[in-house]
Amino acid sequence: MKIGPIEIPPAGERRTGTFTFASDQGLAKYEWPYIAIAGLRSGPTVLITAGIHAAEYTGIEAAIRIGRATSPDAVRGTILIIPLLNRPGFYERSIYVNPEDGDNLNRLFPGKPDGTWGERFAHHLLTEIITKCDNAIDLHAGDLIEDLVPFVIYRETKDPSLDERIEAMANAYGARWAVKSAPTGERPGTLMAVAAQNGVAAMLAESGGRGQLIEEDVARHVTGVTNILRTIGAISGRPERVDLPTVVKSFEWLRSPVEGMFHCHVRVDQIVKARELVGEMTDLVGDPIAALTAPVSGVVLFTVTSPAIKKGGLLLAIGAL
Ligand SMILES: [Zn+2]
Repeated sequence: MKIGPIEIPPAGERRTGTFTFASDQGLAKYEWPYIAIAGLRSGPTVLITAGIHAAEYTGIEAAIRIGRATSPDAVRGTILIIPLLNRPGFYERSIYVNPEDGDNLNRLFPGKPDGTWGERFAHHLLTEIITKCDNAIDLHAGDLIEDLVPFVIYRETKDPSLDERIEAMANAYGARWAVKSAPTGERPGTLMAVAAQNGVAAMLAESGGRGQLIEEDVARHVTGVTNILRTIGAISGRPERVDLPTVVKSFEWLRSPVEGMFHCHVRVDQIVKARELVGEMTDLVGDPIAALTAPVSGVVLFTVTSPAIKKGGLLLAIGAL
């Protein structure tokens, strides 16, 4: 059996290897790693992806660990793990983007068969792999220059039975915070959202960041995904009961009106009030050039940890409460 270009092993076996999209010369320069586990019993086909942002290492490591630790005996159906989607960016330590075209791969879905490198990758991944799966879990962290408090994101589809399945997955992860939509005012086209619009029960989980492989952050992803797999019946064992996340009303991304040095006055998981001062921009001789205030009351879900900020650069995000 194959899922797109990926060879799935016989029932009861695990296979590790690489695949490529051979019909596209630009994509075929790269080999993507995968781990596929075929259960003896029937069940859902579940896709676990990570590294669409190449420096979000906790997700990548957790996906690899889940692939190695999950016994085929415990699997019902098929689990397909692609631990590093942004293959061009990994050894380049790319932040946000893919070095082939400088674009954010997680904004380009559904992609285009004849577009840029990233658009073609998104198109092939979506049509050949993602839409062949019942469930999809995309693992992230704060990027190389981001700190965050763990949270899950999912997009409602208006299909009540699909939304129920997606919400059950998001709730099973065990995060304290949940975002139920795309970021306010930011571009659509994320893997998770477009997968859901195509009928796949899909969600995204964030844990860790700052380019660090902190054990606690990796373990949170492994535990969260394992509980999701139990909840949807993809592996045996009873799911653990976890506290439901608080769903924020909106996900507000604060960007800098000027280029300069970012002095952040808040920490992740801090509760702030609307119009409260959350940071300041100074120029390179220290003069203040912009005061940064919270657009809404809520919880700080992530902050950028690098002080070097371009005009329009991302600074932090608040989940409105
Ligand atoms: Zn990410």
